[in-house]
Amino acid sequence: MKKHNFYAGPSILSEYTIKNTADAILDFAGTGLSVLEVSHRSKEFQAVIDEAMALVKELLDVPEGYSVLFLGGGASMQFCMVPYNLLKKKAAYLETGTWASNAIKEARLFGEVDVVASSKDANFTYIPKGYTVPSDVDYFHITTNNTIYGTEMRYDPDVNVRMVADMSSDIFSRPVDVSKYDIIYAGAQKNLAPAGVTIVIVRDEVLGHVDRPIPTMLDYRTHVKKGSMFNTPPVLPIFSALQTLRYYKELGGVKELEKMDMAKAARLYDAIDSSRMFEGTVTDPADRSIMNVCFVMTPEYKELEKEFIDFASTKGIVGIKGHRSVGGFRASLYNALPMASVEVLVAAMKEFENKH
Ligand SMILES: *Cc1c(COP(=O)(O)O)cnc(C)c1O
Repeated sequence: MKKHNFYAGPSILSEYTIKNTADAILDFAGTGLSVLEVSHRSKEFQAVIDEAMALVKELLDVPEGYSVLFLGGGASMQFCMVPYNLLKKKAAYLETGTWASNAIKEARLFGEVDVVASSKDANFTYIPKGYTVPSDVDYFHITTNNTIYGTEMRYDPDVNVRMVADMSSDIFSRPVDVSKYDIIYAGAQKNLAPAGVTIVIVRDEVLGHVDRPIPTMLDYRTHVKKGSMFNTPPVLPIFSALQTLRYYKELGGVKELEKMDMAKAARLYDAIDSSRMFEGTVTDPADRSIMNVCFVMTPEYKELEKEFIDFASTKGIVGIKGHRSVGGFRASLYNALPMASVEVLVAAMKEFENKH
């Protein structure tokens, strides 16, 4: 039976990406070699990374003056690379979840951190509003989609300081005004490729203004200068990322992806809101993520949560168990997940509700 993959990350990839990656593992670009065993300095791989960079720029409409990097170390590495390269004295952070908290912890190693607002008081079930970002900070850091808690900022805030965003779990799900940001980063394993590569989009002019020495590998300038080829980049994830980027372009780009994502999320949230058995953990529709839908059973049915996960698995549904810090369920509706899988989940919820 075909599985309906709702894992939060690593997560579903398009069939196009998986098929082309499988083919290239056997024979890469007609070289007679596997993509697993080819030099990153070969002209065939250079063509892959060049096209991947160009497609990131095209799909996100990246303006002049920015570089696109493909780095190792995961999004978590960016939690320290950002302050290492940008934090002189003080930075502002919006605390909207576990990943934001982790980023804050790292930034504190490099300077003063002003947490301008936090939704920790309510287990991160909302996006703080009405905060002010001080004008004397080196940058303001946000997490656009909170993968664990299912909240999302589907807009590009207006601030008068440099802005940095962790877009690991919602990149390519909407058009972004890149010109408002100085650094955008995203681990690939949510909406792009297998784990192992992180996309960084950096405004070149923000680099080189801190006094501290920066280790070569952690200095963005190293990777800008060398086109992400200072050392061996994650060859296979970059190859897969290219396949996904081509597929996204073929589908009509991020505007089209957003339409599909919104439709999938609306379908599931409607089913949750109209059910007597399930309820969403994020109540303000404006804050609800279209990538990660978090929900639980109402107190009356709470003890059936485990049973529902088992029931869903008989329908081929996998990966809906909520993160341990939220409980209940989380259905991740990344770009590659078809509406048909959402329909199967909704039908399973209805059938289960009717049984009880
Ligand atoms: C998954 C995730 C991370 C962590 O990514 P790693 O690549 O595992 O370091 C960071 N931020 C967000 C928003 C995430 O969803």
